[in-house]
Amino acid sequence: MKRTLIKDLKQHLNTEVLIQGWVQELRNLSKIKFLILRDRTGDMQTVAFKSETEISSFELINELTKESVVEIVGIPKENRESRWGIEVGIKKITVISTAAAPLPIDNTDKSQTNLDKRLDHRLLDTRNLHKQAIFKVRSKIVKIVTNFFDQNGFTNINSPKLTKIGVESGAELFEVNYFDRPMYLAQSPQVYKQMFVGGGFERVFEIGPVFRAEKSNTMRHLTEFTGVDFEMGFISDYTDVLELIENMFIDLISTLQKEAAEELKLLNVEHRIPTKIPRLTLDEAKKLLTSKDKRYGSDEDLDAEGERLISEIVKEKFGSEFVFITHFPWKVKPFYQMKDEKNKNVTKSFDLLFNGVEICSGSQREHRLDVWRKQAAEKGLDPEAMPEYAEIFMYGCPPHGGAGFGLDRITQRLLLLNNIREAVLLPRDPVREKP
Ligand code: ATP
Repeated sequence: MKRTLIKDLKQHLNTEVLIQGWVQELRNLSKIKFLILRDRTGDMQTVAFKSETEISSFELINELTKESVVEIVGIPKENRESRWGIEVGIKKITVISTAAAPLPIDNTDKSQTNLDKRLDHRLLDTRNLHKQAIFKVRSKIVKIVTNFFDQNGFTNINSPKLTKIGVESGAELFEVNYFDRPMYLAQSPQVYKQMFVGGGFERVFEIGPVFRAEKSNTMRHLTEFTGVDFEMGFISDYTDVLELIENMFIDLISTLQKEAAEELKLLNVEHRIPTKIPRLTLDEAKKLLTSKDKRYGSDEDLDAEGERLISEIVKEKFGSEFVFITHFPWKVKPFYQMKDEKNKNVTKSFDLLFNGVEICSGSQREHRLDVWRKQAAEKGLDPEAMPEYAEIFMYGCPPHGGAGFGLDRITQRLLLLNNIREAVLLPRDPVREKP
């Protein structure tokens, strides 16, 4: 008999089906036994009656342990009292794999198990359908964003994660012993993205791991995260990049509402489809923040509290969950960003905040070799020590710009999760090394 998925049971009322999954809950009474079975599509009440179920199967339920894998032959019937509207009457049940008892964590919806313990036993944790929904949404985000880039003429590239170039400062890098020579885990695909804009692709993107050796134990930082990076050539201004990002989020949220409707409902999350994302210069944002008693110096970036407060103000003023902050001081930004022609103290840079947290940062890049060299020197870097980077600008390079997102941050903010670790299957932070 072919397997029927739990989500399809309603189409098989009163006919014999085979269902397979994990035992979520058990209630053993003398003449009737309830078993909630779960597969990847949902959960369902199944019932064994002493009078109707094969006697060996009826008795076997007494010995079953939670989270064992079983298969059930039974008949789905209407039952208005069950929260599913139907239930499956068990004829026969077979154990495929027995789960050891007791379980190391409680993975039910009522669980009080703390996040650390849940992460230690993540494979049990993700069997919970709410937890699974987070990763189904995350998976859809990757699909939708990939399609969006594809439809807009971007080529998906994979750049090396073991690298020696594009290293701006030693501080954030993990050093790897590479046949007794030092190599580094890539902290960003920045140079490689620019390399292949110049390499004739014009538009490239990459979704891949990014490593940061930062000892920050916060709700939004990890030492390994998944970057969504893109770069586009032949732009007329950094605003072309903003427009692309705006369209990406309109597409992402509207497509998610269609393709992840079940998961968003399960997670109780609703978003308005953005239209125009408000744009504020950093100076304008700082002025608005004075109304919340937040004050910054002229060369200062916003801190986490400032990001949260400016998002609140924008939500009140413009009804938007997103806001672009533009024109960051040259002092706090990397040397490869293009300076603004009208005010050389700021760069053509931007951050995108989503529900109070930065999820993306980008800029127009400096593509004129002489200016690029000058700016490197201005930041105390030796342009001669970066020949691979310089080569990008030596043989014909179009004006270009791009940005980097954290997939984990997008998922976190989209699903309003308190901690970024909830949005990552197996997070890495300064203390967490396993599983
Ligand atoms: P933050 O100010 O939040 O530390 P950042 O300015 O260091 O971020 P960028 O280097 O500009 O961030 O990286 C681009 C994007 O990558 C960020 O907007 C964020 O979404 C994500 N990101 C950066 N660092 C981390 C991290 N340690 N953990 C998870 N995501 C990160």
